[in-house]
Amino acid sequence: MTHNADLAARRTAAVPRGIGHATTIYAARAENAELWDVDGKRYIDFAGGIAVLNTGHRHPRVQAAALAQMNAFTHTAFQVAPYEPYIALAERLNALAPVTKPAKTLFLTTGSEAVENAIKIARAYTKRDNIIAFSGGFHGRTALTSALTGKVVPYKKGLGPAQAGVYHLPFPVEAHGVDVADTLKMLDYLLRADIAPDTVAAIIIEPVQGEGGFLITPPELMRALRERCDQHGILLIADEVQTGFGRTGKLFAMEHYDVKPDLMTMAKSLAGGYPLSGVVGRAEVMDAPELGGLGGTYGGNPVACAAALAVLDVIEEEHLLDAANRQGDKMKARIEALSRRNDIVPISALRGLGGMIAFDIVSERGGFAPDAATTKAVTTRAQDNGLILLSCGVFANTIRLLCPLTASDSVLEEGLTKLETALTARP
Ligand code: PMP
Repeated sequence: MTHNADLAARRTAAVPRGIGHATTIYAARAENAELWDVDGKRYIDFAGGIAVLNTGHRHPRVQAAALAQMNAFTHTAFQVAPYEPYIALAERLNALAPVTKPAKTLFLTTGSEAVENAIKIARAYTKRDNIIAFSGGFHGRTALTSALTGKVVPYKKGLGPAQAGVYHLPFPVEAHGVDVADTLKMLDYLLRADIAPDTVAAIIIEPVQGEGGFLITPPELMRALRERCDQHGILLIADEVQTGFGRTGKLFAMEHYDVKPDLMTMAKSLAGGYPLSGVVGRAEVMDAPELGGLGGTYGGNPVACAAALAVLDVIEEEHLLDAANRQGDKMKARIEALSRRNDIVPISALRGLGGMIAFDIVSERGGFAPDAATTKAVTTRAQDNGLILLSCGVFANTIRLLCPLTASDSVLEEGLTKLETALTARP
């Protein structure tokens, strides 16, 4: 038995089946955009730990900052003996985040926890309960965030009643037959038929839906949502957990829009592989919950905060926003050329912002019908060929590329060649 197979057998016996795996490999070590499994096989990593590694695996600057903090102290609880790295990181993010100033930042541990807290803060500030989210959106797997997530299977089915006060609008996607006018019409229906506007605390939206299929929120929708929010005293929450920290060619994806959110959630690439999440927002809104209403034992762990400060330095000093745009352009050019070839599986809707690139696998060239089986076959072939590749999308037929923005040109090219091989239709 290989080490991978041995661990798979032990995993099956020891860990519940409910955690899905994108690959069948077990990690042994990793560096920048490369990963080696326990059998010694090398992979190019186009998953980046699901958008966590914009600065790559084990960036030396991030490692050094984390190590220095580990040698000082690893945990005190911010509620017991607070520390500078938390405050310094909040100060930097308050200055950088595209929210109305003055801003304040709260740190937590997971993306779901950031979303939970953004909702709590919005409810405390507005003194209202209802929340509007979008179909296909993903905000987490906790009890509240799975209610916000716009997909029933596997996130909600059989897992108990969804929290009351959560409503969904259809997200505009051409391939799903919904446009911005449809979405706004449904918003008006919802506010007339189900919930009075003055009972809505917030609208939460991902600037680019991540798990839902790398679908970009049209600027006219974002603008219209901001207008409706202002009209009715509703807060706009941008969930930047997947889009943040340079992935889209800006530090935050909301910088692609001409309106600002009131609150923004972040996690994943914030701390380059250490568990850290946050909520940033207008100070007045962030200060709404009572003393003791926010926090958590591990929230804003000092090692993770030190790592995050280094991540921000790396993004700036290594010009990773430019790198994201260059990476995305290369990926798009290569995939665009591939899409015209007859020996490649039918692909459509190549899209993306910066280095957040995706395309769909469809059953017929020029069509929209999703082909989830072929998509699975492509990610499996990629793994066989030494490429870690993720799918996503409400129909499980989207291939998404989340390569570290620090990847060298040669590793990126090698990965794209492996992608080409994986997409080559077998006779
Ligand atoms: N929001 C978005 C946009 C996400 O992509 C995710 C994770 N994929 C989450 C929230 C939840 O984050 P976590 O898994 O860290 O709880």
